[in-house]
Amino acid sequence: MAVEAESHLKENPFRLAQAQLRKVADTIGLDDDIVAVLGECKKAVEVAIPTTMDDGSVNVFTGWRVTHNVARGPSKGGIRYHPAATLDEVKALAMWMTWKCALMNLPFGGAKGAVVCDPRELSLGELERMTRRFTSEIVNEIGPEKDIPAPDVGTTPAVMAWIFDTFSMNQGHSVLSVVTGKPLAVGGSLGREEATGRGVLFCLQEALGRQGAALEGKRIAVQGFGNVGGAFAELASGLGATIVAISDVSGGIYDASGVDIAAARAHGRAGGTLVDFGGERITNEELLALDCDVLAPCALEQVLTRENADRVRAKLVVEGANGPTTPEADEILQGNGVLVLPDVLANAGGVVVSYFEWVQGLQELFWKEEEVNRRLKEIVSGAFAETWARHEHDGMPLRLAAYGLAVERVAEASLIRGLYP
Ligand code: NAD
Repeated sequence: MAVEAESHLKENPFRLAQAQLRKVADTIGLDDDIVAVLGECKKAVEVAIPTTMDDGSVNVFTGWRVTHNVARGPSKGGIRYHPAATLDEVKALAMWMTWKCALMNLPFGGAKGAVVCDPRELSLGELERMTRRFTSEIVNEIGPEKDIPAPDVGTTPAVMAWIFDTFSMNQGHSVLSVVTGKPLAVGGSLGREEATGRGVLFCLQEALGRQGAALEGKRIAVQGFGNVGGAFAELASGLGATIVAISDVSGGIYDASGVDIAAARAHGRAGGTLVDFGGERITNEELLALDCDVLAPCALEQVLTRENADRVRAKLVVEGANGPTTPEADEILQGNGVLVLPDVLANAGGVVVSYFEWVQGLQELFWKEEEVNRRLKEIVSGAFAETWARHEHDGMPLRLAAYGLAVERVAEASLIRGLYP
């Protein structure tokens, strides 16, 4: 059954990702042939997912698993459950995963997956049956040495557990490292759930430090109060920042003296949306233009566009989400002196700890949380320092610096490996 949903995508995200690559390639002087290779996805698998619904009817969902590049290692990337997901969105997200893993110097390529569905409208049983059938349909695509999924928008540790179990049942034994973001009881890593938000926080602290500023007292607006935005808001407010606004798909709330983040998180965990949380209501669009120091888009792509970028009043934008800023918005923000911490750097904490989970699963040896967080900080802060150095040395925006470093690494690996046959 086709699911009709209003799309958050105003432009084709894969075309934007390809244009970004060409811009980076021009800047670093990359050969056209290698740009042609890196500009396409290695593989895109589309599957039909027939699922028995609770009322006995059958719903056929559409799903994809896309691998962008594997020059540096098996591909890695989340699975999104969203009613407006498209193949070109998944391809763009897969390409960005390649750059993100390379920027963090992880031995992974990039991938992404999606199922067109609204998980909030499915019962737990329907969600499990659909997930297990989707996993069965892509069982030959994924694996610890091939392609390793993880959570993204609309998917949870519980969904990862069903993927792990379905894959393992097909193999005849438990395969811990086939998927990351699993619950702790079945081989998850300590620190994984808040890892993306923690990485966002580390990047923000690094940037503020270089400006001679501190996090304490900073007024932050967070769009998207899910895994990424929720954890980031909680960690930042715990360190003395004031979270003046948060939002989810139902809209936002504003409190100049600081939203009670712990209470809002508890409300979310109990299944509530912000519409019934209380407080002064604002729209998602109003949130983006709030008077604040830091804006953290942590929901979906293309929320900052040429229409609204001029209205952003924060002087620092930290991209918790993937692709929240269109290239035109990027230029407007730059022109207005807004420092943008790009997605491949700012939200890479999740894939870094996913890498740790994969390593721990392969070794069947699990680390303490302090060990996970210490290593996470080392990698994210190291990548930030490299990106910042290029940004300062070459006088280019952080996004171009980050993408440049990443694309160079993937190109180098591709050239050393050579073109088969
Ligand atoms: P999530 O499903 O946990 O949360 C998404 C949040 O965004 C929810 O609060 C939802 O209500 C809100 N939202 C959805 N549509 C919206 C809209 N149109 N306007 C405003 N808010 C909306 O997802 P997540 O895992 O937190 O992912 C959020 C973003 O971070 C995505 O861009 C994702 O690709 C990126 N990301 C996630 C991870 C991860 O580890 N989960 C890692 C890196 C990047």
